Amino acid sequence: MRAAQRSRQQTLALRRQLIGSSCKLFFPNDPVKIVKAQGQYMYDENGRQYLDCINNVAHVGHCHPDVVKAAHEQNQLLNTNSRYLHDNLVDYAERLSKTLPEELCIFYFLNSGSEANDLALRLARQYTKHEDVIVLDHAYHGHLTSLIDISPYKFRNLEGQKEWVHVVCTSACNYQLLVNLMKSLFNVLNTGYCSFAAPVPDTYRGLYREDHEDSVTAYANEVKNIIEQAHKRGRKIAAFFVESLPSVGGQIIPPAGYFQKVAEHVHKAGGVFIADEIQVGFGRVGKHFWAFQLQGEDFIPDIVTMGKPIGNGHPIACVATTKDIAEAFAATGVEYFNTFGGNPVSCAIGLAVLDVIEKEHLQAHATEVGNFLMKLLKEQKIKHPIIGDVRGSGLFIGVDLVKDQAERTPATAEAEYLITRLKEEYILLSTDGPGRNVLKFKPPMCFSMEDAKFVVDKMDQLLTDMEKEYLNQ
Ligand code: PMP
Repeated sequence: MRAAQRSRQQTLALRRQLIGSSCKLFFPNDPVKIVKAQGQYMYDENGRQYLDCINNVAHVGHCHPDVVKAAHEQNQLLNTNSRYLHDNLVDYAERLSKTLPEELCIFYFLNSGSEANDLALRLARQYTKHEDVIVLDHAYHGHLTSLIDISPYKFRNLEGQKEWVHVVCTSACNYQLLVNLMKSLFNVLNTGYCSFAAPVPDTYRGLYREDHEDSVTAYANEVKNIIEQAHKRGRKIAAFFVESLPSVGGQIIPPAGYFQKVAEHVHKAGGVFIADEIQVGFGRVGKHFWAFQLQGEDFIPDIVTMGKPIGNGHPIACVATTKDIAEAFAATGVEYFNTFGGNPVSCAIGLAVLDVIEKEHLQAHATEVGNFLMKLLKEQKIKHPIIGDVRGSGLFIGVDLVKDQAERTPATAEAEYLITRLKEEYILLSTDGPGRNVLKFKPPMCFSMEDAKFVVDKMDQLLTDMEKEYLNQ
């Protein structure tokens, strides 16, 4: 049967038959079949339009004509690997370098965020000659074996399966962290290298909150403690690996200055600072091109990884680093070859994405629309007690739903209900955070003021209905 003739139910049945069940669908009980998209809108098989608040990959808008044209034109000319000289590769690296601090001047191109993070890990280990990695709790850095192992978001569900992963908890252990500590000790005795999880610098629900006198130092000291504990056990730190704004961690905005303090401790221990910009880079945060720049002008990571939005849907990723780190990596004498990474088509697409960001002033647009959306959401917070916190920068926004304002207990079921109802109103939104209670706004950057108003009006209506239902129970 031709795909166009297949009903949604038939596609679903075939998918269940043929595709690994661990590949999940959005809205699994009633999944959406999408057949085309443009800008910030997606269309199902019946031509119904959905507003996309999820897709940070379609950064400059789904199927942007300039990006599609660049891909098509280069595809007609040549696509081959980077072992031949080609201007697209060097043009692209040069353009990216102009967006970054000048120290980050060497580039590697790859196909996915996971590949970029895996290479970042190799660079760090080669440069420092150390093995161990510190990550934030609830972090996700990719699906490769090496990255699941440094992604507490994933490996916490794999109890007993990863003997060589170690989580050292900090002063405020809860039961789960204590269990993990016991496991860590067992694992360290049995295995090789380590990863350590530091508390998320979340000033709303974390260890040190908005009322703490110096949450920056307090959170950075947690990392320092981890380093000291590791040293006592003869371990050596290769890297602090962090998303510039923890996204699966719950759309967290680390307090400014935290990265600088952490970097001081990590550098002192001989490690490097890796900023994962895979979700949050390329102007999404509005004020800056890179999310790590929200920390302050004086902060420069040693390695930056990029993915998702970089190719507007085409599989491209990149690692940027310093000359010293790149030279240490080259000194091994082992060639780094990536069959598809940095091919002329990928680079043409990457260049077109940068052109569109500039031409359409999408960074400034993210600030303008993001601020408007935050204002509307904050008005909703006053009206609906289920909204505990609204935080964000540009078009990276989290709405933290709580059962009660004092305890800040995650309103998980309510968040799930809300996104399901919004889907029925043709708005696609997702949840994240350890409690899966944070509504996560990261739409294509062409998201408009009207879209912002539309989605918040619908949310208001649904939350009002939910409150009425609750009162009638
Ligand atoms: N890092 C972060 C922060 C991510 O969100 C993701 C993907 N969700 C990755 C790395 C891995 O990227 P990919 O799926 O392209 O391998």
